[in-house]
This record gives sequence, structure tokens and C-alpha cells, in this order.
Amino acid sequence: MSERLDEAAALLGGRARRDVSLAPLTTYKVGGTAALLVEARHADDLALVGAAVTATGIDVLVVGKGSNLLVADAGFRGIAVVLGEAFADVDVDGGAASVRAGAAAFLPRVARATVTAGLTGFEWAVGVPGSVGGAVRMNAGGHGSDMAASLTTITLVDLADGGAGERAVAAADLALGYRTSNVAPAHVVTSAALALAPGDPAAGKATLAEIVAWRRTHQPGGHNAGSVFTNPAGDSAGRLIDVAGAKGLRVGTAEVSPKHANFIQADDDGSADDVVALMAEVRRRVAAEAGVELHAETRLVGFAPEAVAAAGADPSTPTAAPGKAR
Ligand SMILES: Cc1cc2nc3c(=O)[nH]c(=O)nc-3n(C[C@H](O)[C@H](O)[C@H](O)COP(=O)(O)OP(=O)(O)OC[C@H]3O[C@@H](n4cnc5c(N)ncnc54)[C@H](O)[C@@H]3O)c2cc1C
Repeated sequence: MSERLDEAAALLGGRARRDVSLAPLTTYKVGGTAALLVEARHADDLALVGAAVTATGIDVLVVGKGSNLLVADAGFRGIAVVLGEAFADVDVDGGAASVRAGAAAFLPRVARATVTAGLTGFEWAVGVPGSVGGAVRMNAGGHGSDMAASLTTITLVDLADGGAGERAVAAADLALGYRTSNVAPAHVVTSAALALAPGDPAAGKATLAEIVAWRRTHQPGGHNAGSVFTNPAGDSAGRLIDVAGAKGLRVGTAEVSPKHANFIQADDDGSADDVVALMAEVRRRVAAEAGVELHAETRLVGFAPEAVAAAGADPSTPTAAPGKAR
């Protein structure tokens, strides 16, 4: 593995930094380092990463705002990629009721820009502290809507296919479902186009304020990644966790929020391994109490496959398994 890392580092030259802590790049503020980290300033940097990934078969992790990511304390033995400011432009066309947003754009900023331009349909995103790219991959949503409701097309770069050239993909071809899509770990979403509707800016501003106030009342602050588990059909993960008596449950430096049972809070200087152990324990209790298998919404990175499975997380994210390319 270290030979492949050295080879990738050599191919990336000065564009990659070694052993960079990912904790500050996530909202949990826990976890270890990325063996290599590249901040992509423009498309050429993505092509360079694509060349390194294709040549070495090394794992790659795209980091957005890190608001749905939990990186293991052992870190991530691959190349982490963060999109720079050049990918954060937001262009709202009030007349055409459309938006083109770079993948690094902050969702609340996009939501506010659409309301200011007299559009409606994207207000829900004001409370989701992610990037446009992360929201596409997750099909993020809330308050009765989601990305799928307005997304028309995206552009993406496939790092496992050389990383050269963006291609457009229609939203209909992304298999967008409840917090899922077919965007793969080596796919970098670079922009998204949205189709919205004309709206009243005053009504839109009132909706934004209501959503922000609702979030402040119902969700905890501190270090977390929002809802840990998806809601089972017809039920709420938070209710099930509460009924299983797990609200306030603690494993080391991680605690099930006493305010919202589907949030896990990490202490300052906490441990990602404690968070994942708590996820597994919560799932175990809910399965025992209600017979329901919870599925994690949070994406786990760098953990052993058994830990990912015990936490009910998506196995398609990079794991610690040596030699696994994607
Ligand atoms: C307080 C709080 C409240 C939240 N509320 C909600 C909510 O109401 N609804 C909701 O859906 N989510 C919610 N979330 C979770 C999170 O904000 C969303 O999932 C968000 O879309 C993640 O975006 P991100 O940029 O932070 O992605 P990250 O956490 O950085 O990454 C998430 C996944 O997307 C991938 N990814 C990131 N950027 C890209 C890109 N450019 N191209 C390809 N893949 C990419 C990552 O590799 C990873 O697999 C909340 C989180 C917090 C902390």
C-alpha cells in the first residue's frame, strides 16, 4: 500500500499534501488523517488526481463540507480531494427560474440566493450544512423536498477513468432515491443545474426564517453529522431510538443527543471509533426492542468492513481493506 501511495504522491507532485487531518474538514470534528490530500483549484487538478488514481488503483474520497462523513481514527489511506473556490460559483437566473451551482457551493447560500432572485422550491436546503456535490450524491432533502425535486443535470468527472473531461449526466440517470444515488466514490460532481419556479421573495424569506428557527428548536448544536440513520418506511428512526431507551446513551466520547435521538454528538477531541461503536449499539438496541434494522445515513470512511456493517452503513464508501481500489 505504501508503495502505491508513494507512486501516487510522486504523480501528484506538489499538488498533494501528506498526512493531513480530516477532522477539521468534517462537522463531527473527529477522525484521522488522509494519506494524501489535494485541494483541486481547477479541472487540471482533477485530471492529475484521475491520472494518479488510474495508475495506482488507490482509494479516493471526495470531501464536500464533511457534514455527512465519519472518518476512522486510523484515517484514510488514499487520496482525499476537496474542491476549491473555483467550483463554488452560484449563478441564479430569475427569469428562466434556473440555477447553476458549482459543487463546492454551500447549500444554505444557494437556498438564500434563489429566494433573493424571486424563486421558490429550494428553501428546504437552508438548513442543510452541506455542499451541492455532497447533496447530489446523498440526494439530500428535508421539509418535504429533496435534490431530486429540482435537479435537472449535473456535470461530473470520473477519477477512475483518467479524470479528464467533465461529462453531463441527467438527473433521471442518477438513480436518486431516499438519501441515495448511483454517484460512485470515484465520481466527482463538479456542478448541478436546478429548475425552480417563480415565487414571492417575501414569502420565501419567511419560509427560510421558519426553517432556521425549526432547526434551532429541534436539533442540537455541537459536533454531529445530522441524522445518523434513515427513517424506516412509515416510522422515524429518532422515535425508535427513543423507545429503545438509547437517548442520552454514551460510548466513550460519543453520546446520543438528549435533544434529538437520531443525532450523535462527539465531544471536543472525541473519537470516531466511539461514534461508530455507539452507532452499532443503538442499532442493536433498536433491533432487539422493535425488530427494525436501521440503516445509516452517515458515510463511514476508513473503517473495517465489519464495523461498517455493524453500524448499518453504506459499504460502497472507501474502507480500510488493503488493496481495495474503490
Ligand atoms: C446539523 C446537520 C443537519 C443536517 N440536516 C440534513 C437534512 O435535513 N437533510 C439531509 O439530507 N442531510 C442533512 N444533513 C447531512 C448533510 O448535510 C447532507 O448529507 C449533505 O448533503 C452532505 O453534503 P457534504 O458536502 O457535507 O458532503 P460530505 O459529508 O462531505 O460527503 C458525503 C458524501 O458525498 C460525497 N461527496 C461530497 N462531495 C462530493 C462531490 N462534489 N462529488 C461527489 N461526491 C461527493 C462524499 O464522498 C460522501 O460519500 C445534516 C447535517 C448536519 C451536520
